[in-house]
Amino acid sequence: MIPAAFEYHRPSELSAVIALLSEHGDEARVVAGGHSLIPMMKLRMAALDHLIDLRDIAELRGIEVGATIRIGAMTTQHELLTHAGLAEAAPILAEAARQIADPQVRYLGTLGGNVANGDPGNDMPGLMQCLDARFTLTGPDGTREVAARDFYEAAYMTAREDDEILVAITFPRPGAGHAYEKQKRKIGDYATAAAAVQLEAADSKVSAASIAMTNLSDVPVWSAAAGAALVGSACGTPAVEAAVAAMLADIDPVEDSRGPVEFKKHVAATVLRRAIARAWSRV
Ligand SMILES: Cc1cc2nc3c(=O)[nH]c(=O)nc-3n(C[C@H](O)[C@H](O)[C@H](O)COP(=O)(O)OP(=O)(O)OC[C@H]3O[C@@H](n4cnc5c(N)ncnc54)[C@H](O)[C@@H]3O)c2cc1C
Repeated sequence: MIPAAFEYHRPSELSAVIALLSEHGDEARVVAGGHSLIPMMKLRMAALDHLIDLRDIAELRGIEVGATIRIGAMTTQHELLTHAGLAEAAPILAEAARQIADPQVRYLGTLGGNVANGDPGNDMPGLMQCLDARFTLTGPDGTREVAARDFYEAAYMTAREDDEILVAITFPRPGAGHAYEKQKRKIGDYATAAAAVQLEAADSKVSAASIAMTNLSDVPVWSAAAGAALVGSACGTPAVEAAVAAMLADIDPVEDSRGPVEFKKHVAATVLRRAIARAWSRV
């Protein structure tokens, strides 16, 4: 299908993007990689008069690796896969990005678009919750930060105001014990269920654990109780099963083309067990 007619804008300053959003309100939308928005426009599920392309905005680019990691919103999933410093500092990002769609989508699809979209099927929102990331938003009233764990309100509904731009994503450099485990029907599909796990260890026991699940509710699910069930254990079966039970109590899957609720819970439990085992093997 062909989208309805719109006016195309390609500003080179962030202030110009915000001015356009303020001027046109609901009739304007920014486009990053376009791999979620353009299909919606072609299907006439998104209608807008003004499309504002973010590709020339320098402030939205760049990856900085230190004690805190900062990733510009326009960083593509391909760049997440190929950035050497990031691969060493936060390898879970590449592990997750590699499981998103296919190379064509990853060359254009951005981290910012993936987390701003609010699609419960997207992989990066859950991962950002696992990493306790913060989202930097800039709008007409200035800049503010929102925790990834507070950002998602419902499917496609987030804490971002319509006239705000997601500028960057920041998170503390994680430890080595990581895993992103995803089950999907075929290559290029969204997750039936996915688990992001970060573990830290002291004296051969789990000292900190963070667990987030994808596509098992209308928002990503960071399960504090699942992480807490592992702390103090050596990731033996009782602790892992307690974590799985806690996670299952926090998710709320619905039946759809990826399967009935019981199947999704079964898959969620399986991906979480696998992710915990792999993360523990890496601490
Ligand atoms: C065939 C196919 C398979 C896919 N499979 C997966 C998958 O398995 N897992 C997965 O996670 N994703 C998947 N995707 C989605 C893909 O990763 C998208 O590219 C991504 O979700 C959105 O990024 P984008 O840069 O293309 O955003 P766009 O489509 O450009 O934008 C998406 C939304 O976010 C808004 N937006 C974008 N950037 C900003 C910003 N900086 N500030 C404020 N708002 C912004 C836009 O206005 C729009 O509403 C798939 C896509 C396709 C086409």
